[in-house]
Amino acid sequence: MTARFSLAGRTIIVTGANTGIGQGIAVAIARAGGSVLGVGRSSMEETERLVAAEGARFTALTCDLADAAGARTMFDAAWEAHGPIDGLVNNAGIIRRADAVDFTEADWDEVMDVNLKTLFMLSQAFGRKLIAESRRGKIVNIASMLSFQGGIRVASYTASKHGVLGVTRLLACEWASRGINVNAVAPGYIETNNTDALRKDPDRSTAILARIPAGRWGRPEDIGDAAVFLLAPASDYMHGAVVPVDGGWLAR
Ligand code: NAP
Repeated sequence: MTARFSLAGRTIIVTGANTGIGQGIAVAIARAGGSVLGVGRSSMEETERLVAAEGARFTALTCDLADAAGARTMFDAAWEAHGPIDGLVNNAGIIRRADAVDFTEADWDEVMDVNLKTLFMLSQAFGRKLIAESRRGKIVNIASMLSFQGGIRVASYTASKHGVLGVTRLLACEWASRGINVNAVAPGYIETNNTDALRKDPDRSTAILARIPAGRWGRPEDIGDAAVFLLAPASDYMHGAVVPVDGGWLAR
């Protein structure tokens, strides 16, 4: 790996690292030579094992990201114990499905809190540290096809993921001159718990697959490699970009 694409000597915090895309990102960071601080509420043992197999260091940090204030406290403690931190991947996210006419306030609030509010509060906590210490840093937010499209039956998810793009662009504008890169990856349809219901619905899964030019669902490692690029020196001049990793879904 050339130095421009290496994460050697870098410490990256990844939210929701126990499974799915977050696990794929953690393993990809490890392959690129970085150390991973994995944040979540569930056991990270599997990810720790996969990262260790790549010869990298993994530290699990327990935090319920539904509580934005608790997430900020966790971040500050992580900086003290394991910092300085070079990159933040805001990956953790949830989805709730119901027709718009039936959508509950709880399903709206829970999704907005985890997917958007905590993403902003963690980014703010990271940005404050970097700016106070005049350090460079990288933020990678995990967006979605529903950052661009409406979808159906996922009102709060679509709102939150449109918001992720807006916040990505806002932070990029405010912090680019400080040497902080804020960008996003927009995954297409990836095989994880998040899409379990879709993949089990024969009509929806056939329709989705038929529309993906690559002819397959994405895998967590597809997203991990894109995240590594946005965390590495190779992307130093990228600010406020959103990189679709979607098998061609948006190009269709
Ligand atoms: P996933 O397998 O369901 O993983 C979601 C992750 O977020 C898990 O690690 C989960 O932890 C964590 N999380 C959720 N709520 C949390 C909370 N309150 N506190 C701490 N951790 C919490 O789904 P995924 O597909 O990998 O999703 C990862 C990201 O990619 C999400 O932002 C999602 O919106 C986005 N995305 C996914 C797809 C796709 O096709 N799969 C497409 C576009 C975007 P637990 O295991 O403890 O719940």
